Amino acid sequence: MKIPNSHPRYDSLMAREALVEGVKEGLVVRQGLIAHGRGEAFDYLIGEVSIEPAVEAECAAAGHLLRARHPVISVNGNVAALCANETVEAAKAVGATIEANIFHRTEQRVRKIVGRLKNAGAKEVLGLDPDARIEGLDHPRGLCAKNGIYSADVVLVPLEDGDRAQALKGMGKVVLTIDLNPLSRTSRISDVTIVDNVTRCMPSLARFASELRGDDERIDRILSEFDNKKNLTEVLKHIARRLAKLESVSFD
Ligand code: ATP
Ligand code: MG
Repeated sequence: MKIPNSHPRYDSLMAREALVEGVKEGLVVRQGLIAHGRGEAFDYLIGEVSIEPAVEAECAAAGHLLRARHPVISVNGNVAALCANETVEAAKAVGATIEANIFHRTEQRVRKIVGRLKNAGAKEVLGLDPDARIEGLDHPRGLCAKNGIYSADVVLVPLEDGDRAQALKGMGKVVLTIDLNPLSRTSRISDVTIVDNVTRCMPSLARFASELRGDDERIDRILSEFDNKKNLTEVLKHIARRLAKLESVSFD
């Protein structure tokens, strides 16, 4: 379908096209479309822009990734379909390993995700030969790479399921997530929750990483000042303020 770029919902329509295409190619599962719909609804409430709390969280996440001994970015089908190039750029900027790691696991789909990321310029992508398990999860959901997620000290898990995020926390890792729903379990238990669209977030992460690299004092300050609970409260306040403003709008 050809979408004119003057369309007011251009970005949103393009994202839908990319995901539908992803389903056809076997990159995205149908459940991924539903998860995207939940994300879209929150993005609509937020205003489809990167709000101040999201920018602060992006800075903190970039700081954690730069500081990490072994940072890993986990990529699922939706992320690969929506922003493979930007994810690879972000991984390069922070020096992170990329691992294809999916909730509805089939080897064929992992292979597709790895292929997409390599086409986007990734040198190495883990995930095809999982040789370790995330503790406390059943077999397919727990599979991961020993030199990837399993041994990471800091993991970025965009669009993650709550149970898996919890299990990663349980292994003592610093968990960073990108999730448009500030109320999801993943959002609540992560150390840094970026409430932003993954498509807007990945370029910001790359930008902040190049800005912060080498500036240890600033990274220290950002990490010590960041408070995830407070940040999520700011996001909810932003949504509440927008809705309160709309109350005075007439719909007839
Ligand atoms: P939890 O298990 O953490 O409570 P959930 O069950 O609501 O989460 P999942 O389907 O497990 O959700 O994960 C998908 C999450 O990703 C949703 O919270 C959704 O809001 C979010 N999401 C979907 N698309 C995007 C996107 N493009 N950018 C950022 N977040 C997104
Ligand atoms: Mg879930």
